[in-house]
Amino acid sequence: MPTNDIDAAVSALLAGRLVAIPTETVYGLAADATNTAAVASIFAAKHRPRFNPLICHVASAADAASFAILNDTAKQLTDAFWPGALTLVLPLRTDANISDLVTAGLDTVAVRVPAHPVALQVLQAVGRPLAAPSANRSGRVSPTTLEHVQFEFTPDVAMGLDGGPSQLGLESTIVDATQDRVRMLRLGSVTREAIEESLGEPLALVEPGKQPIQAPGQLQSHYAPSAQLRLNVRHPKPHEALLAFGCEVPAHAGPMANLSEAGDVTEAARNLFSALRTLDTTGASTIAVMPIPEKGLGEAINDRLRRAAAPRP
Ligand code: AMP
Ligand code: MG
Repeated sequence: MPTNDIDAAVSALLAGRLVAIPTETVYGLAADATNTAAVASIFAAKHRPRFNPLICHVASAADAASFAILNDTAKQLTDAFWPGALTLVLPLRTDANISDLVTAGLDTVAVRVPAHPVALQVLQAVGRPLAAPSANRSGRVSPTTLEHVQFEFTPDVAMGLDGGPSQLGLESTIVDATQDRVRMLRLGSVTREAIEESLGEPLALVEPGKQPIQAPGQLQSHYAPSAQLRLNVRHPKPHEALLAFGCEVPAHAGPMANLSEAGDVTEAARNLFSALRTLDTTGASTIAVMPIPEKGLGEAINDRLRRAAAPRP
């Protein structure tokens, strides 16, 4: 699956095939968002429920405006955060050429301009929006290297572009920017503080149970390794694997990974999914996770950990 041949990847995408692409958040499983058969194969490969809409990736805000409506607040956010890890849910234009599968039939569409140079090169060459959810089976841990994608999808996905380890390591932050008052839909790589600072006001909260859609990224159990997770642990048990944070780590003889010895949440976010995968391969039945401060990116890390720890369906 690995290739550095961007032209071949572009031809494959234009022919309706799936290509794994690097982004700065996590690796995506990309397909032409205007081609329903291509988008259907994303859902099939991921075993993703059809009611869970996909994010459209484009090369610029101008490309987004060809199928989505951006009000002044949305434009302010795209100016501040694109290219980058902020996804906007926007009203879908009535003349939009986007497959209904991408939007799950909603009259809104989620859009982002990624910052990874390989992703941008592909998007510019394809000249069409690419639907690209994280390149993992639905409900599982997101991939931050092409090796993770290969582990998950070989032989189902024939081609993947290697862009190195994802710099941010957590999915994009998703906000609803259909109204003047912006609402947080999913915590992610852009902090709540950064968005609120840019807007000059607090983000509105979505009341529990009142999500516009019930998507797996918002379901209780998601991002789950095979092992069970135990959170906020200061005294791991001998049989557990330990996911540590910071420099004050308890003595532990079993498998261990430290998200950030320096206690830096940005470094911890980058390492989170990869560390979960590594500890999962040790065969430990439980991963004990040390407390992560609920500040900055810590909020999104704790969101993912809570979902990974939630009872499985
Ligand atoms: P993923 O691509 O796996 O990171 O998941 C994309 C997420 O985007 C979904 O789980 C939804 O939560 C969200 N999403 C996509 N489109 C919409 C939309 N039109 N309205 C609300 N949320 C959306
Ligand atoms: Mg995902």
